[in-house]
Amino acid sequence: MQVHTGKRLVSLTQDKQEISVRFEDGSTDSADLLIGCDGLHSAVRQQLVPGAKKRYAGYTCWRGITSSQPSNFPTTLATESWGRGDRFGIVPLSKNRIYWFACLNAPREQDPAMRQLGLPALKTRFASYHPPVLDVLERTPADALLWNDIVDLEPLSTYSWGRAVLVGDAAHATTPNMGQGACQALEGAAVLVAQLSRHPLAEALQAYNRLRLPRASGIVKKSWQLGKIAQASNPLGVWLRDHLLPLVPPSVNEKQLEGLLGIELPEISFPTSAEILT
Ligand SMILES: Cc1cc2nc3c(=O)[nH]c(=O)nc-3n(C[C@H](O)[C@H](O)[C@H](O)COP(=O)(O)OP(=O)(O)OC[C@H]3O[C@@H](n4cnc5c(N)ncnc54)[C@H](O)[C@@H]3O)c2cc1C
Repeated sequence: MQVHTGKRLVSLTQDKQEISVRFEDGSTDSADLLIGCDGLHSAVRQQLVPGAKKRYAGYTCWRGITSSQPSNFPTTLATESWGRGDRFGIVPLSKNRIYWFACLNAPREQDPAMRQLGLPALKTRFASYHPPVLDVLERTPADALLWNDIVDLEPLSTYSWGRAVLVGDAAHATTPNMGQGACQALEGAAVLVAQLSRHPLAEALQAYNRLRLPRASGIVKKSWQLGKIAQASNPLGVWLRDHLLPLVPPSVNEKQLEGLLGIELPEISFPTSAEILT
């Protein structure tokens, strides 16, 4: 098998025998199967389902990694704190660093006011939050910041069309509220490899759809709803959320987590890179 890097797919065509792709540099290639794993803005998906809808969630996200951590910082506890139309998440990392995210409601995508925020404005915005939020922001170097609007993909009804199949964000980009985007991409890849190693192509893709569609679509929907609750800004809604959610018994949350994490993935053995390249 040949691996080409640094190529950008622009179009594809397929018939009963093969699928062919054209790259931005004018080169072409063909194969039995095309796996479109080219992310939220997937060119493969645009060719196959031009009507697929990306949805702006109504909030944007600044992220960063600190270069140190406060003393007595609990290194095994990740937290997310909800305000009115904003929230702040803290996730301890190795080597005394902390990953954090700040989600803020914003009326439109690529909002210039949000783009400009940066660390000083984030510190002002989150000044009323509890410790160590400000401390975490203060320990973040300005060049360790990332900014992304939160956008998902309205669930599709299939992930495969003939000899083309979508995996990861290309198939089911989700809001990050359940921390599942990359996890679902990995699950999808594992399921696809297992089915391809067991069945002829058409059956393998059918099985992939059957196994992946309900799970990935369910996560996209739940995550969207969770985001609405976490980013609530209406005072009554926020009051109800803050007073009712603590009443939910831990067993309910545990059951939900079991459904999310207690999944049996197929056993697969990946070829080594040396095997791929021979
Ligand atoms: C704010 C935020 C927080 C997140 N938090 C989490 C989290 O806590 N946990 C989690 O699991 N996930 C999280 N995610 C989601 C996670 O980042 C994505 O789900 C994951 O990166 C998807 O992987 P992917 O390989 O499908 O797509 P991508 O990572 O987008 O990779 C797509 C690749 O395709 C390439 N490509 C694009 N177009 C073309 C083309 N035309 N031709 C060739 N190549 C192309 C790109 O260069 C890229 O390398 C978060 C996302 C955001 C925005």
